Amino acid sequence: MPQSNDFEARLTPHLQPIVEHYGTPFHIYDETGIRATGEALKSAFSAFDGFREYFAVKALPNPRILQIMQSMGFGFDCSSIAELRLSRQLGAQPEDIMFTSTNTSVNEFQVAAEAGGCILNLDDISLIPKVPRMPELVCFRYNPGPRRTGNHIIGNPVESKYGVSHDQLLEGYRGARDRGASRFGLHTMLVSNERDQSYMVETAEMLLDLVESIASELGIAFEFINIGGGLGIPYQPGENTLDITAMADGMDAVFRRFRDRNGYAPKLYMESGRYMTGPHGVLVTSAINRKDIYRTYIGVDSCMSALMRPGMYGAYHHITVNGKGDEQGENETVDVVGSLCENNDKFAIQRSLPAIEDGDILIIHDTGAHGHAMGFTYNGKLRPKELLLKSDGTVELIRRAESLDDYFRTLEFEPDPLLL
Ligand SMILES: *Cc1c(COP(=O)(O)O)cnc(C)c1O
Repeated sequence: MPQSNDFEARLTPHLQPIVEHYGTPFHIYDETGIRATGEALKSAFSAFDGFREYFAVKALPNPRILQIMQSMGFGFDCSSIAELRLSRQLGAQPEDIMFTSTNTSVNEFQVAAEAGGCILNLDDISLIPKVPRMPELVCFRYNPGPRRTGNHIIGNPVESKYGVSHDQLLEGYRGARDRGASRFGLHTMLVSNERDQSYMVETAEMLLDLVESIASELGIAFEFINIGGGLGIPYQPGENTLDITAMADGMDAVFRRFRDRNGYAPKLYMESGRYMTGPHGVLVTSAINRKDIYRTYIGVDSCMSALMRPGMYGAYHHITVNGKGDEQGENETVDVVGSLCENNDKFAIQRSLPAIEDGDILIIHDTGAHGHAMGFTYNGKLRPKELLLKSDGTVELIRRAESLDDYFRTLEFEPDPLLL
């Protein structure tokens, strides 16, 4: 756990009984770590009146985790009907929910408008006439195109499908106002897993500059800017952590300048996922096979269905072996692989690890965001259970493993032939 060594200290002494009780594989999350990160974020931004994090539900869409976020005062960033329902089932109120979808369907807009609606974050001007009921509070997602560079996960803004272009912004706000919106925000999300705070400060400055010119052009006031998610965590040992205090200080200066010129400042919102939970989860899996051909392969009892990031993005996830230190010399270089019939089903490629035998417990680090949630059932591989290591020292099952019955459920339906 490059960022969360405390989690390791809390988990390691209890790992054996947890494995014996629940069986592998499972993701386990650390309530204490999640709360510490949430409180640190709030404290770093305490000088910002109305600062709010809207947790990106897609990172870890488990009700028990969302309740922890809620108890810290955070809202929810949702991008689907399922995520809206998850949030509302927990009692989230309209302004606790930001609906940031892309390529949105009318059906999604309809569900977003239910139960008093939510803050609607529009991804395109063509959607304005398609929104069945324009809510009072609306923002647009801004895509600066060539005005900014992105990063490798989210890509160059010019090639990114998200957001409205620079010269569409005025038309967007005008159109939303004409359809009844009366309160406004401005949103963007340009990077993913960014550990350089200065980029995030530039993003806040970019949004405030736009707010200033749109407000004066249209005579509307802005309630908030939302800098999106994308705050990074160190996946590799030795990587720097994002300095949120420096980030808050940098943004504070930008907001102060805005306030001096305009006599007010909008609220600052963000919608982090990875930063909030990424370091506070691990995938625990057992070694079940060892194969020596041109390379040595360590086969484990989970696969991409539990964690897509290495296969999908070539992402690094640190791996440790329970009870075996990684003193150099006894290490060997292996690929750690799952059982899926795809050659990118590898948790690690040519990684130096302690010699692993069948039955060893491997801990794949930093799986608390976009881990379990991104899993799929290709090849009939099922998603594992999720556990929560609670602050009171107990462990709770917070999602059972997917079963074969779940997998076969979509094959139970009424016949529906079409005679042509
Ligand atoms: C995925 C996503 C996030 C969260 O991204 P992280 O990298 O986990 O912080 C936030 N906002 C939107 C719109 C997203 O799509």
